[in-house]
Formats: sequence, C-alpha cells, structure tokens
Amino acid sequence: MLKLNSIKKDYKTGDFVQHALKGTDLSFRENEFVAILGPSGSGKTTLLNIIGGLDRYTSGDLIIDGKSTKKFKDKDWDAYRNHAVGFVFQSYNLIGHISVLENTMMGMTLSGESLTSRRNKALSLLEKVGLKEHAYKKPNQLSGGQMQRVAIARALANDPKIILADEPTGALDSKTSQQIMELIKEISKDKLVIMVTHNRELALNYASRIVEVKDGCVLSDSNPAILNSSSGNLNIKKTSMSFWNALKLSFGNIRTKKGRTILTAFASSIGIIGIALILSLSNGFNIEVENFEANSLAQSPIMITNQTVQMDADTLNELKGNNGLKKYPSSKKIYAQDDLKEKVIHTNIITSDFVNYIDNMDMDNVSGLSYVRGTSVNLVSKNADGYSLVDNGSNLTSNMLPESPNDKGILEKNYDVLAGDLSSEAGLVLVVNSRNQINLSILESLGFDKEADFEDILNKEIKVVFNDDYYMKVGNNFAINPDLEELYNSDSSKTVKIMAIVRGKEDKELITSGNGLFYTKALADEVIDKNKNSEIVLMQESLDYNVLTHQDFSETMTKEMFLGYLGADTVPSAIYIYPKDFETKDNIISYLDKYNDGKTEEDIIQYTDMAEMISSLSGDIMDAITIVLVAFSSISLVVSSIMIGIITYISVLERTKEIGILRALGARKKDITRVFNAETFIIGIFSGVLGVILAYLLTIPTNVIIESLSGLANVAKLNPLHAVILIIISLTLTVIGGAIPAKIASKKDPVEALRTE
Ligand code: ADP
Ligand code: MG
Repeated sequence: MLKLNSIKKDYKTGDFVQHALKGTDLSFRENEFVAILGPSGSGKTTLLNIIGGLDRYTSGDLIIDGKSTKKFKDKDWDAYRNHAVGFVFQSYNLIGHISVLENTMMGMTLSGESLTSRRNKALSLLEKVGLKEHAYKKPNQLSGGQMQRVAIARALANDPKIILADEPTGALDSKTSQQIMELIKEISKDKLVIMVTHNRELALNYASRIVEVKDGCVLSDSNPAILNSSSGNLNIKKTSMSFWNALKLSFGNIRTKKGRTILTAFASSIGIIGIALILSLSNGFNIEVENFEANSLAQSPIMITNQTVQMDADTLNELKGNNGLKKYPSSKKIYAQDDLKEKVIHTNIITSDFVNYIDNMDMDNVSGLSYVRGTSVNLVSKNADGYSLVDNGSNLTSNMLPESPNDKGILEKNYDVLAGDLSSEAGLVLVVNSRNQINLSILESLGFDKEADFEDILNKEIKVVFNDDYYMKVGNNFAINPDLEELYNSDSSKTVKIMAIVRGKEDKELITSGNGLFYTKALADEVIDKNKNSEIVLMQESLDYNVLTHQDFSETMTKEMFLGYLGADTVPSAIYIYPKDFETKDNIISYLDKYNDGKTEEDIIQYTDMAEMISSLSGDIMDAITIVLVAFSSISLVVSSIMIGIITYISVLERTKEIGILRALGARKKDITRVFNAETFIIGIFSGVLGVILAYLLTIPTNVIIESLSGLANVAKLNPLHAVILIIISLTLTVIGGAIPAKIASKKDPVEALRTE
C-alpha cells in the first residue's frame, strides 16, 4: 500500500544542510503494526511526517496505492492526510478550547460530514477508547493517558487506513503506556500502524515488525514487505472546512479569552459609536429641518414685491464662505467691491406684461397665486364718541387678502376662521395675530377700547367712502374731507361689515405674518371700478407731483404707486406665488428666471425665496459639520482596524499549535485563513453591534441635553440603514485588519507549527 523509494530529506539552516533522511527504501503492508526504533535525532519523526504527508521529501518518491506522489499538489496532500492518515503525537496535540467530543470530530468536520453523523461516530469512538463519559470535558480536565486516548479516537475518526503514532507513550507512565499500546494493537488488526518509539521493550512486545533507523538510514527490518505493486484502496476525497465550522471553532477560541475580546471589541467600537452618534444627530437635525420645510417652507410663497431687499453683500459673502478674498489679509493691497454685482436693493417694476406672463404660468406647479394691490379703501365708522376714520394698518400693501385665480381655498389653507365666514363676497376681514391681537389704533378707530368681543366686531357697520367724497379739491390740489359725519352719511357711501375674524394657522406663521383689517378682492374691484375715474385720479395722472402732499415723487413713493393707492392702477404691487412642493418650486423659479433673459438690469424682476435661503444654508452647514466629524471619527476606525490586526497576529502566535493540528488533520491553507477570518469576523460583528447599541443608548442622554438646550425633542435618531452600514463597515475593517495575520497563519509550516509549545 505504501512504498518509499530512496526518500531523502535535507534540512537547510543557513549554509548548513542537515541530511535527516539519506535515501530510505521501505514498504508497508495494508495490515501490520510497524515499530520504528532508533536513537534521538535519527530521523524517525521526519520519516513519519513524510509518510503522513505533513512534510515533503527532498528527493525520491512516495508511492501510495501504486501512485507516485511526485506530482501531488497541496490539496492532494491535504485530502490524503484527512482521509487516509490518522496522527497520534507524543504531546497529544488536542485543541484546548474545545471539548473532547469536538476534538474527536475535528477531522470529520474538515471532511464535511453532517453534524449528527459526526457526533454519533465520535461518541462511539470515545466509547471504544473508554472515554464516553468524558465527552463534554475540556482536554485539560483529563489525565495524560486519557488525552492520548482522545488523540487516538480523533486519529480514527475518518476511518483512515494508516495510523501514524510518534512516540505515543513518550509522556506516559509504564502502566498507562501498556494500556495505550493495547489499544493501538487492537486498532492495527485492520489498519497499517506505524509507530515511532525508542522504547525497545514496548516495540518488541506489541509490534509485528521492527524497523531500526540510525543517522537517517534504515539499519534493520525484521519483516520487510514485498508489495505486489498497485494494490490498495486509499480513498482520497477533497477536504474543506465550511465557514460555519470555522466560525464555531473561532467562537470556542474567543470564549476562552472573553475579557480580551470584549475589551478589543469595545475599543474598536468607539469609532463606530462616534460615527453613529454624529450620523444620528445630523440625521435628526435633517429630519427636523425637512419637517419644518415640508410644513411651511415648501409652501411659503415666492414673493415678488416692489422692492427686493437682498442680504447685505458682506453678510452674504460671509455665509457663502468667501468671495475669493481672505479675511484680514496681510497683503498691502486694496480690492474693489463691485456695488453693481453686490447690489443690496433692487426696485421691481411690475408691469401688466409681467402680470400676463405670470397668468400664463403652468398652473399645475402652483397651489396658490395672489396679487396684492396697494389700493386704499377709505373706511369711516360711527362710534359712541363720534365718527372715526378706520385705520387699516400702516402698510399700504398689506390690506388686500391674498386672492388666487385657481385656488379659492388659499385663505382656508393658511388661516383659521375664528368667527363669521369667508363666503360672502365684498367685505372686510379682520386678521389677528397668534395672541388674538390687532393694532390698538385699529381697535380704537372701530370704537373699542382695549378689547372687543367677536360678536361686537362682526356687528359693526362700516362705510366705504369713494374718492369723489373722500378727497376735496382745494385749488389745484386735494385734501381729505375732514367732515366724517358727512362722509359716513353720504348716499354714495357703501355699508360693509367685518365678515370674518381669522388667525394664521400655527404652522403657517411665515406666510401669515401681518395683521389688521383686510378687504376682499370683490370689494377692491368695486372700489377700483368707481375710483379709477374719480377727479383726483384724473388730475394726478396729468401732474408729476403728488396732488395730496404737494411733494415730488421718490423711490419709495413713485407716481405709479400713488396712483395704485388711489385706485387708478390695477397692476398689483406684489405677487405671491405659492408652490406645491420643492419640485414645483424649482419649476416656478426657472419660469421666473426665464422672464429676465435679455432684460436690462432695470427691467428685470427679482423674487425673494425665503425658504430657499433658509434651507440651503442650513443644509450646507449641516453637511459640512457632518463630514468633518465623521472624518475625525473615521481615524479611530482606522486605528481600531490596525489594533484588530495586532490582536489577530497575537492570536495567530497563540494558536500556532492549533494551526499545526488542523493541518495534520487535513485542513487546507485556505481553511486556516478561514479560521482566523472567522475570528475577526466575530470580533468585527461584535464590535459593530456593540458600537451601534452603545450609540443608540447614548442618543437617549444626548436627546435629553439637546431638549434642555434647544427645546427640540428626540433630535438624535439613528437611521437603521446607517446602523447596518456601520456594522458592515466595522466588519469589513476588522476583516481587512486581520487578513494579513490570517494569511501568515495559513503559510505556517505544519511540522514547525506542531513543534511549538
Ligand atoms: P527523531 O525524531 O528521530 O528524534 P527528527 O526526525 O526529529 O529525529 O530529526 C532528524 C534530524 O533532522 C535531527 O538532526 C534534527 O535536528 C533535524 N531536523 C529535524 N527537523 C528539522 C528542521 N525543521 N530544520 C532543521 N533540522 C531539522
Ligand atoms: Mg522525534
């Protein structure tokens, strides 16, 4: 079955060559108990390791079942060791951190048998060697003789045809030695047993053939075998360890050093904790901002008013980062600031052309469109202490309620109706602030003191006075008629009531700021219709100074504005466009931008998009902060993966013996890599999960702190997707960190590995 043809083995150490075997010729039968005797250093172990495929011969040939092994590859030797050979060593070579049963099963594990069949076979083998009741003990809980029995059971596990024993009784007392020899003799009944010993007495008593070696040469052979060539039935299947088994093996190993593993995992999880916390904070803030935007910003209007006030150029540059110039420069130069480019205020001249352009906009993008007209509606009320002009707020342009050609619900969407209703057409609406306040002067002009009941407000009758009554001609100029009683009682005055009291919805503060007495479009239209042909309007149209104040017009009060105020002009003083969402807002903005194409600086119409300003700034700043912090934390991830590399390398050193054992049992290099990758895999998963859990727990106090500082509840939110990604990153980094040591482990020479203590 086995034939050694002038096998030579040289060991090179530096320049020195040790000829451990000097051309050995030996043949072995399928069934015999061969004892190899010889003094220490004569090459017995070398011979056995070469026969067992654990070491490679330098020259000659080993014939297995009539087949030359000259062309054997690593995987062939691995399979040969796993299926055809069982090793028994002097120092037992059991894996300390797994049970006796698992040690016994290890060879079968490598050959890929099913768990139940492995377990049953291992238990029956342990029974055979008289250790069934010790199956679940760890090796170090057994005596030397018992451990050697376990080693024998393990050697028998894959039912090999060859058992190789290297001084199996070398560490045992004579009584135990005899028991072990009995066991081996029993085994040799249907196997080839080759046992190295220097105990001549034991050899003579138990072996059927004695081969003596000295200085790497065979001295004598008591029963040489002549083989009839290619007989034999060594079945050699390929071996492989599944990743799952590698995991189990490494898990067992990790369990024996819990403290170190937990510390390692904790240390390497710190990076994960840092990143997870940062991400959960920025995630939380982003959600907060998004909610805010979705609730109000997205629907806040794009405003086109007479004047677009832009941020002051310096502030704008500050927020945008730079304008190419450093702050507090050391250079002795002065740079120009381009006022035209960094203009602060732009006056929009809203023309009827522009209004048409807006009216032709794709209304699918718009949830509301409102024109604000500066038309003044002159109101007089009759109070207990006389007549009074109704003050409708200081801001001329804020007096008309938003109207929308395509959405009548724009008011209901943004305001709560506290009393009355918005259904009747021409009338007044009182808008109060979030504390139900309106300007004292409005309240007083309506005849109330510091407060008023809804009912009384709604019942109040007010007269709308038209221009021809309201303005008296004095020479070439006009003055307001001071006789309020006459105005109030004039036949041409129109009686109206406050039809509703409304208040801006809680989350619509941005849109609904501004309170006071507002009038509806219907009322505005009626007033404009009458006033546009009034005497004051006709006069004003032909003169270039203000007929009421006798003053010239200015930037802030142009002739057009004043005519609008008098009701002559129907071009709105402001346009509010309410987008449906951010996407439609973009469409609207590009539509507005298109209007300005090819227009001169003076004719362009600028718009104000509050939402865009707020959200883009906050988004950019958040992103920048997040990137910087994540980068910092990533350093600790790199550090931890280097640390994992070192820890794994230490583990490789500690487990060198185990590597040798696994290789002797038929493990491939790949399997060894797998065992260590499994170890880092476990640590990686563990530290990742630990990091995520700790980060999650840390979000609780973090949220408490943030809430006490800013009033925002539950800001830090760990996105489950981020958690999973972080675990994967932790896993990847640790596996990368452990990859080199795992490779080193797999390259270890099995014979040398076995020799380490
Ligand atoms: P035995 O088992 O009979 O005591 P070995 O087979 O272990 O002897 O060793 C035979 C000879 O080869 C010894 O001189 C030993 O020093 C040498 N030898 C064994 N292994 C190595 C090695 N890995 N490198 C160098 N020399 C070795
Ligand atoms: Mg030896």
